[in-house]
Amino acid sequence: MTVITIVDEPDSSVAVDRLLTRLSGAGMRRTLATRAVAQVLVRHDCPTAAEVQAHLRARDVRMDLTTVHRILRRLTEAGAVVPIPRDSAMGYRIADRAEHCLTCPSCGRTVPLTAAAATALLAEVTAAGFALGPVTVSTRCPRCH
Ligand SMILES: [Zn+2]
Repeated sequence: MTVITIVDEPDSSVAVDRLLTRLSGAGMRRTLATRAVAQVLVRHDCPTAAEVQAHLRARDVRMDLTTVHRILRRLTEAGAVVPIPRDSAMGYRIADRAEHCLTCPSCGRTVPLTAAAATALLAEVTAAGFALGPVTVSTRCPRCH
């Protein structure tokens, strides 16, 4: 039995609602557990499933890792989050934030690419015949290299 306590914070509720609206659009039920995971994803960029679980625990929400994985998989299938490979495991980022960025595989820190850099990169990507999509450059941040 998963015991969940939700404490809403006004600054992030709009982003959480946007994420949950996507799920409804994809035919997913908006459960309390899903909402709790969505709140973590809004506040923390690109956490792994284990980090999501730790963030939940810090807010007195107990959820087993299998449930966290299941919700993250559903969010991914709904196109609401994008899986980003990190050193140890897969990180999960809200799709809106996944547009063209530099991402540190160690800590998950993300910096958006400038428009000029993104345009040049996309030209390379399409010239190579790859599908056009969010471009994520995986490279270590100053704190991690
Ligand atoms: Zn880093």
